[in-house]
Amino acid sequence: MFSAFKSRYDHFIIGYSYKTNYLPALIKKLSKMGAYSEVVSRVEYDLALKLGVEPNKIIFNGPFKSYDDIALALEGNSILNLDSFYEIELVKEYAAAHTDKNHKVGIRTNFDLTIDGETPLLDGFERSRFGFFLENGDIETAIDELTSIPNVKVVGLHGHFSTSIRSLTIYKKIIQTLCNLAKHYLSDTLEYLDVGGGFFGHVPKTMNIKDAPTFEEYAEIICSVVNKEKKNFKKEPMLIIEPGLALVADTFKFFCKVIDVKKYQDESFVLVEGSVHNIKPAMHNRNLPLKHVKRDTRYYKQGKFNVVGYTCMEKDYLISGQIGEIPKPKDFLVFSNVGAYTIVFAPAFIKERPPIIAIEDGSYSLVRKREKLTDFINDKVYIY
Ligand SMILES: *Cc1c(COP(=O)(O)O)cnc(C)c1O
Repeated sequence: MFSAFKSRYDHFIIGYSYKTNYLPALIKKLSKMGAYSEVVSRVEYDLALKLGVEPNKIIFNGPFKSYDDIALALEGNSILNLDSFYEIELVKEYAAAHTDKNHKVGIRTNFDLTIDGETPLLDGFERSRFGFFLENGDIETAIDELTSIPNVKVVGLHGHFSTSIRSLTIYKKIIQTLCNLAKHYLSDTLEYLDVGGGFFGHVPKTMNIKDAPTFEEYAEIICSVVNKEKKNFKKEPMLIIEPGLALVADTFKFFCKVIDVKKYQDESFVLVEGSVHNIKPAMHNRNLPLKHVKRDTRYYKQGKFNVVGYTCMEKDYLISGQIGEIPKPKDFLVFSNVGAYTIVFAPAFIKERPPIIAIEDGSYSLVRKREKLTDFINDKVYIY
């Protein structure tokens, strides 16, 4: 993904979206590879610091920031994108108390993405709730207010949208709108344009998603707009993207053992030592790629089966309606493409969360230990 963009536009940064998967070993690896840290809360910011990330390589987004959060980000020269007017007041207050320095901020923008009368936003929302609205003049007001503070400059525009289609048309519209706004308001001060995340990664065939763009296609459409528009700015701006899912979805596999198999009429229920929470917390109904590791050398019957989890929820299906060789107890099932939002959305529910093993250059290391009762219900925080 990095080289697809970097080869087309040299001033380029990837900020890894922490909330997609917090595994410290993974974040450290991505930082080492040059990724910035994209965080949306103070605990995520503190995690970045704890992992040794330099503050000027942290991108601080999100709708909720306190005065202390903003102070910390400005002190550390982090990339700070403001989301609402209350944050402008906090910046004013900080800037007034710290007049020895010029402070740089960016703003998150929000504009209509409707295509042919239909909203592409995830879950069918007509309008995003994040950032400053374009059409009612909030963006202009925000820029005016910020630039009227003597020691504050607006240096960046951010436009992250979560859409279901993740299409090239969407990204073209986002980057073009950011460029148009920057030309109009920030041609002297612009330092970065940030199109956010929301990209498709490598989509497995089993998920049956047609027309998912490749990294090359995303890069081509976004970089061609920036390359065309960059002459309008005093300084060639940094282009930033903030992928989460696209970077990490295909880096994780989930291994679980088959406990039992029940049959009712023509359908089997394969119970495993795992749950839908471990592999698709969004509980979408697409099947993930599944590998069946057999422990029995004898014949396996073909048939229709579901893979179901250990929780007590009826809807705990890891796989539904698959046709193939029906697994037997003690076999293992391996699900791939489970790296996005699984670790962060795995509730402490009914059973401990599984350990995680990293494979690097053919060697194995434990990067998350097996949980015990005191990790599951942390007795440093719960009062017994
Ligand atoms: C969640 C988020 C991302 C990452 O989204 P993906 O869909 O996982 O790529 C990037 N930027 C912001 C501001 C986010 O909230």
